[in-house]
Amino acid sequence: MGEEGLERSRWRGVAVGAAVGDALGMPLEFGLASHPRALIRTMRPGRLPAGHFTDDTELALAVATTLVERGYLDPDDLAGRFAAWYASEPPDVGIHTQAVLSRLAAGEPWDAAAEAIWRERPESAGNGALMRSWPVALAYWRDLNALREASILQCRITHRHPECVAACVFLNAMLACLIRGDSLEKAVETAFTLAAPLPEGLACAVRLAPRRRREELRNTGWVRHTLETALWSLFNSHSFAEALIQAVNLGADADTAGAVTGALAGALYGVEAIPEEWRTALRGEYPLKSGRNWGWPDFIALADRLAALYVQP
Ligand SMILES: [Mg+2]
Repeated sequence: MGEEGLERSRWRGVAVGAAVGDALGMPLEFGLASHPRALIRTMRPGRLPAGHFTDDTELALAVATTLVERGYLDPDDLAGRFAAWYASEPPDVGIHTQAVLSRLAAGEPWDAAAEAIWRERPESAGNGALMRSWPVALAYWRDLNALREASILQCRITHRHPECVAACVFLNAMLACLIRGDSLEKAVETAFTLAAPLPEGLACAVRLAPRRRREELRNTGWVRHTLETALWSLFNSHSFAEALIQAVNLGADADTAGAVTGALAGALYGVEAIPEEWRTALRGEYPLKSGRNWGWPDFIALADRLAALYVQP
């Protein structure tokens, strides 16, 4: 495979990997960590059928659709899509996201809504914007400055906390570097530079993540825990499947950990490394109640469209 083929395999891996990770984690969400000798390795049914993706992927598809249809990250268009998703009565919405989207649905402008909720709950630094941020990386991976700006904007539509914003830049910078073919170590260093200055607690969590012991990981909905899980899983495994199995078997916010780890592992190992039985089990609907069903070939087509959007830096 030539360099272009490798890049294509990696950006496709981001989209398919994120959705597969979300679906693999779905039945393990809110659970306890699995026993290390009894890890779940197959797509299982939970509150949704086996292989079904959740809100993480639905909202990522909202971001991707804005990018494809508008040609850039248009915050008003994207806020409208988030509001439409909320109005379609999704079965699961994060607490912070629900607080912002209910205001959007009532007609409040997105910037006022996000600002008001941040003031109401200044400590809230959930992973709701991180889990849907990978389409921005696919659109802007060739230009790190444009990627940085679009990643910040995408996050701030609902999540204003500096830790959320920095985490989105950090993740997307890593994805861009991995698509380019950088090593995991180099991608982390570039991400530190692009997301600087990282809030101290987040910086500490990210630095220590590769050397954490499994029992130390909490994997809650806190954005720093999600990045910590993803980095720990990647640095302590040698394949796409192994990284994903480690991440989702921590339980708690397993689907979001799966989505973020899956995006990174897909970028690191390429789409061919994603196990066929996981890939072919993947399913879900977006927009909700539209009858538009998504399988893995749809994610590949979407990834190609996103990666073709912004070619000239
Ligand atoms: Mg979810």
